Amino acid sequence: MNEQETRILLAELGAGLFARGFSVGSAGNISVRLGDGYLMTPTNSSLGRLDPERLSKLDGRFNHVGGDKPSKEVFMHRAFYQARDDAGAVVHLHSTQATAVSCLSDVDQSNPIPPLTPYFVMRVGRRMPVVPYYRPGDPSMEPAINAAAKDAKAVLLSNHGPVVSGKTLLDAVYAAEELEEAAKLFMLLRGQASRLLTARQVDDLLTTFG
Ligand SMILES: [Zn+2]
Repeated sequence: MNEQETRILLAELGAGLFARGFSVGSAGNISVRLGDGYLMTPTNSSLGRLDPERLSKLDGRFNHVGGDKPSKEVFMHRAFYQARDDAGAVVHLHSTQATAVSCLSDVDQSNPIPPLTPYFVMRVGRRMPVVPYYRPGDPSMEPAINAAAKDAKAVLLSNHGPVVSGKTLLDAVYAAEELEEAAKLFMLLRGQASRLLTARQVDDLLTTFG
């Protein structure tokens, strides 16, 4: 896929996320790795109305080189790209159910959502840790995300929302959608006896699809 096709796809996927309520207002941002740098949603832009031609272009060192000014949350994306060679795209949302899980104090902060369905395991992997709370824009958030992303494709920012990576733009968006569905199931089932996938079933999925 060339850069122009990637720009159009990014705007389409952003509009789809917005239309279904995965982001509201100017919340949420999406980036994708290119051969010569990155594309990133601009600061204060709505995912519902992205203009493919005005997306921020960053060079390989995350310097702004074209389009509108990038999102102020660009450092979250940089943390993932620098932690994971397999990250080809990163999606950050304030989607409701995943954000609800990020506020829970009585769950395992190293992996709050248990393996309820194969789809979450296939898209997000074995674990998704919670990164402690930082004030929006606090630069100390970047090393914390970078450290957590070294062995997780996605993290939950405490009292804020998810950051999800994928090999491709589509993979990252699908993983963010699957994470929101898994969080919804987890919240629905809280307090009820649930049958989780076993460690063996999780291993089997990751061997087959990982
Ligand atoms: Zn945010």
